[in-house]
Amino acid sequence: MTNKLKYFVGNWKMFGDISSFKIIQQINKYIHESKKANNKKVIICIPNTLIHFFKKKLKSKHISLGAQNCYHEEGFGPYTGSVSASMLKKVGAEYVILGHSENRMTGDTDIIIKRKIISSIKQKLIIIFCIGETLKQKKRKQTFAVLKRQLKNSLYKNLDKRRLIIAYEPVWSIGTNKILNKKELKKIFIYLKINLKKILKTQKVPKVLYGGSVNSKNINILSSIKEIDGFLIGGASQSAKKFIDIMKNYYK
Ligand code: PEP
Repeated sequence: MTNKLKYFVGNWKMFGDISSFKIIQQINKYIHESKKANNKKVIICIPNTLIHFFKKKLKSKHISLGAQNCYHEEGFGPYTGSVSASMLKKVGAEYVILGHSENRMTGDTDIIIKRKIISSIKQKLIIIFCIGETLKQKKRKQTFAVLKRQLKNSLYKNLDKRRLIIAYEPVWSIGTNKILNKKELKKIFIYLKINLKKILKTQKVPKVLYGGSVNSKNINILSSIKEIDGFLIGGASQSAKKFIDIMKNYYK
């Protein structure tokens, strides 16, 4: 098993209340006691309502907190129900997921996502930028073209690369228990890394995570793909046991 730093990112989605802090405590206990604590970076992206409270309670150098989206306009403004990147930063978020397919489905376009990336980077947040093809696009063999378009339309040349993480999440794989086979996944990750170098005009390619139905069983296959730098974990991150089992099995 590799000694390279691997990312385990939880996306709680619309889940959690004050009492859910115990999930974070259990994950923290596991990381603290694990021999490979320094090999993993754990980030839990929680609802905005919990960031301030969790941040104050979390005394851990092992876990960082992130948000799951932000509004594309900056600062404060007449945007009822919206939260800007600066507001997330002020309550303690260090990371923000942008471009998640569940947000793309409700109106986020590549251009809006680009504005969100720009405003989040200004706030010195680290972006977890999600890309991925739908089932229809996959069936039409458009996967590579879709991924390239999503990267090209939302990223830009002089973007601060230290603040960017990519998450490849096939839309048809989210919450469905279906994942691509090893050969196909490897091919996509190699393709993404080559294109990221070109688009960002850099030799130092950002971390690229895989997301979509990651669980404690399929992590064994996923862990054998060296091009994958970590995982974005949705449903399974709402349970400390499931999330911990994924990490345990990854390092088996
Ligand atoms: C997600 O929502 O980012 C995700 C990967 O979900 P799940 O793990 O439940 O498929």
